[in-house]
Amino acid sequence: TYTIAQSCVDVLDKACIEECPVDCIYEGERMLYIHPDECVDCGACEPVCPVEAIYYEDDVPEQWKEYTKINADFFEDL
Ligand code: SF4
Repeated sequence: TYTIAQSCVDVLDKACIEECPVDCIYEGERMLYIHPDECVDCGACEPVCPVEAIYYEDDVPEQWKEYTKINADFFEDL
């Protein structure tokens, strides 16, 4: 799955939402989140993010590793 990391906070550009073919990117209060069970790993969202906040799960930089869980947890709380 893909993960949206720290750089999205207070940016919420939403270009990724336009690109996602399965509409699995959701808007939270301060950032956007990718639903891990709905993402089909197409990669379309990654290049359109103006702040490069989106990473394939294996490529999330060390300092933002926790964001994979933060994305998943957002949907647990709904
Ligand atoms: Fe949507 Fe594809 Fe990005 Fe997954 S990788 S969030 S399916 S655009």
